[in-house]
Amino acid sequence: MAGIYLHIPFCKQACYYCNFHFSTSLGQRDALVASLLEEMQLQRHYLERQPVHTVYFGGGTPSLLPDADLHRLMTALRRLFNITPDAEITLEANPDDLHPEKLAALHAAGVNRLSIGVQSFHETDLRWMNRAHNSAQALACIQDAQAAGFRNLSIDLIYGGPTLSDAGWEENVRQAIALGVPHLSCYALTVEPGTALDSFIRKHKVPPVDPDKAARHFELLMQWMEAAGYEHYEISNFALPGWYSCHNSSYWQGAHYLGLGPSAHSFNGRSRQWNVSNNSVYINGIREGKVPFEAEILTPAMALNEYIMTSLRTAAGCNLQLVAERFGDEPRRQLETGSREFILSGKMERKEHSLVLTREGRLFADGIAAELFV
Ligand code: SF4
Repeated sequence: MAGIYLHIPFCKQACYYCNFHFSTSLGQRDALVASLLEEMQLQRHYLERQPVHTVYFGGGTPSLLPDADLHRLMTALRRLFNITPDAEITLEANPDDLHPEKLAALHAAGVNRLSIGVQSFHETDLRWMNRAHNSAQALACIQDAQAAGFRNLSIDLIYGGPTLSDAGWEENVRQAIALGVPHLSCYALTVEPGTALDSFIRKHKVPPVDPDKAARHFELLMQWMEAAGYEHYEISNFALPGWYSCHNSSYWQGAHYLGLGPSAHSFNGRSRQWNVSNNSVYINGIREGKVPFEAEILTPAMALNEYIMTSLRTAAGCNLQLVAERFGDEPRRQLETGSREFILSGKMERKEHSLVLTREGRLFADGIAAELFV
């Protein structure tokens, strides 16, 4: 089981909080699509003909891809890789791109799952974040996607921002539930170094982000989603039964994946590599027949720590039997000893062979994982 990720590094405008790799100039779009097609050729043996169960167009804003380009990319993927007939094909989209004709074209290209960057249904929040869409588009795109036959829908929402009250946050979540969206990815607003938001806060143009508010929004979110029947299957992800993201789940289960495009990451069980985060350098490298990337071989300790970090973020938790099988008895013993204080303080529990974070523990997931690193 393997996955393929394609990074489409273009956006209409820069959201103030964003630190992903993208450009707001579309001048290199054609060259980049040509490079992606070429990179597929160069990397066609990376997954060693493993069946590919998931394809994910991320970005940036993949819904900015012209329909013909998406068709060409999909056709080449099917020709060069062992994509299974029932593969989950996800495309990240922004609400302002999802008009009915676009939705029909995405459907025709084989996209069967949309991940929509709604972020908020409130105009004030959207303006504060410098999103390209408005609240009417946030709502309409979901209804249009459903009318176009997309049942497998996910939306992203951001909480903890200064313009979002507790009541506003509840309205956002209730709106998503009322629309019957089966999958939600919810993220705390974070201030990443070098972003416009970081600069505004430093210059006192906007207030700093309040971590207590974000923690409160996260706790409320867990309560509302549980009451609505959604499963909290990963720290930031909630799904109705049967609607988990296969692509993200396979990352967390250690499946191999190939990343295509600038800044995309790949993993083949032995090493991980990441393409250069620069469109021109990427395009020029591919023109010369070389994928510009850096790589590192995973030591057993790195692989174990990565497993601890990712597994603790999931509802299934960190499987100690699996740790013993893959890494030996000593790491398992260390994890059992290290986890005692978190179990005593109510942040973690033992469920059969696994260590699982409690609702309280999920607030500190990354810190707890770091404490348990080998
Ligand atoms: S649309 Fe997405 S990738 Fe583009 S700037 Fe906004 S958050 Fe970043």
